[in-house]
Amino acid sequence: MASATDNTPSSEATLDTLLTGYLAGSLPPPVQVLVEAHLELNPESRRWASCLETVGGEVLDRLDPVAPRGRDAKLDAIFALDADPSPDATLGSPVALPTGIGPSGLPASIERYVGRSLSDVPWRTRLPGIREWKARSEDGYVASLFCLRAGHGLPPHTHRGTEMTLVLHGSFTDTTGRYGAGDISIADDEIDHRPVADPGGDCIGFVVTNAGLRLTGRIGRLLAPFTRQ
Ligand code: ZN
Repeated sequence: MASATDNTPSSEATLDTLLTGYLAGSLPPPVQVLVEAHLELNPESRRWASCLETVGGEVLDRLDPVAPRGRDAKLDAIFALDADPSPDATLGSPVALPTGIGPSGLPASIERYVGRSLSDVPWRTRLPGIREWKARSEDGYVASLFCLRAGHGLPPHTHRGTEMTLVLHGSFTDTTGRYGAGDISIADDEIDHRPVADPGGDCIGFVVTNAGLRLTGRIGRLLAPFTRQ
């Protein structure tokens, strides 16, 4: 999806694209935090990011300063090397990051970014079973925490921009699949979904958006004033 800035991820963005953007430091700050928290929660991604970093560093050392539109070429070069990795590239040690959820109930990266622990979050009830806290706005993005009570879901909606969601506790399911702790969901104006927290526990997540939602369906139109950013 075309975007005003070349560093705005879309639903077409793969996890590798986000990881590479994170390693290059080219993502908007709230998205950097989301990816870092994903790495804290997901050892497999952490190992893979380490490989990307090893290979990507070698590529970047050989490239001239990268113009904005050269970013795709940079990523292509990194992924092309991955198709024929050197032994060293496949044996990189994990990126040195803390793992998992900290004592605050949040990944350390998110706790630093929002400046609170999970128990101190000033939740606002948006709808029955749905609580939210808009933690920060930065560079055109809003970073929020949400809590869906087990079995409760957001109203059906699509997106005016890009919505990136990292699950921290529990899981949710929508038309694109099931997302558990550490998983990232990316949605944009081509995706119409209704995330519902799976049975067995509340689903708590960190979501970063660069535009408001557009509610779909009959109930959505009635609720629109309550869900706009
Ligand atoms: Zn959505």
